[in-house]
Amino acid sequence: LAVPMSSLFDIGPAIQTGIAAMQRLQEVVDLPTEEDSARPRPDAQAFVSVGSGLALRDVRFRYTDREILTGVSFQVPRHGFTAVAGPSGAGKTTIFNLLARFYDPADGVIAFDGKDAHSDHTLEEWRTRIGLVEQSSPLMYGTLRDNISYAAPDADEERLHAVIEMTGLTDLVRRLPDGLDTMVGEHGSTLSGGEQQRVAIARSLVARPEILLLDEPTSHLDAVNEQLLTRTLRRISTEHTLLVIAHRFSTLRAADRIIVLADGKVAACGSYEEVRDHLPPVPADLGQGCA
Ligand code: ATP
Repeated sequence: LAVPMSSLFDIGPAIQTGIAAMQRLQEVVDLPTEEDSARPRPDAQAFVSVGSGLALRDVRFRYTDREILTGVSFQVPRHGFTAVAGPSGAGKTTIFNLLARFYDPADGVIAFDGKDAHSDHTLEEWRTRIGLVEQSSPLMYGTLRDNISYAAPDADEERLHAVIEMTGLTDLVRRLPDGLDTMVGEHGSTLSGGEQQRVAIARSLVARPEILLLDEPTSHLDAVNEQLLTRTLRRISTEHTLLVIAHRFSTLRAADRIIVLADGKVAACGSYEEVRDHLPPVPADLGQGCA
């Protein structure tokens, strides 16, 4: 009898730990879901239509006690290439986080085509309008087709070929031994950095987002790939509302319009010539010598 009794005493603490863990799990399960936060907020401000395109009006946001966006307002026309520039820590990625609705603004309005992103759309609806390509958007092990059609598995051949054309990948697909069905290796290791970046953009485009957000797409590219990508961005902007966080001169130069952020506010916006005095020093393009 002593042996089973002693075993019972031994498992006592394990049972206690298990109960505590279950209580913690229940607390997590009871947390509000993303879907809860997607329901229209009762305090959402009425938004006066601003016509087509994306608009931010007096958007404020803080992660902790320090206010990061202190009243950001700007408009981005539909179907165009808008760059977002500004020094490190100015709040560029934070704006993308709000546009993708990873966070909600503390105050102010974000709207597209005059409709409030929060009160007029569920999270799911809003996210179908947004494509986001982050600085590092790793490819997965599989074929080029798997990687491109990931966000829209039902996309037909016509759509796949349209995004391949738009992202300048047609020559690559022709060159690969099995075309779209060629394996691209772990994290796309058989493709160049520029090709990987353009595949990541194609993957985002295949789901037909109205707004495409790109976070510093050219930062790791050499001069040739940077030029190819810039051309790709110009093509994309004829059909999508393109917002690009940019540091490189060539990307800023290619944009129709630049919004410069500083200290959580818009410091300037307009063409390159109009905002150049407000831009932080931009890294020179590669391939221009080292003078
Ligand atoms: P960079 O060009 O360096 O990427 P950025 O303009 O994109 O900078 P953000 O990433 O938007 O800047 O950050 C703005 C500020 O918010 C920074 O001071 C940053 O430290 C802070 N911040 C960013 N993310 C968080 C977070 N999750 N929690 C707390 N503070 C954060």
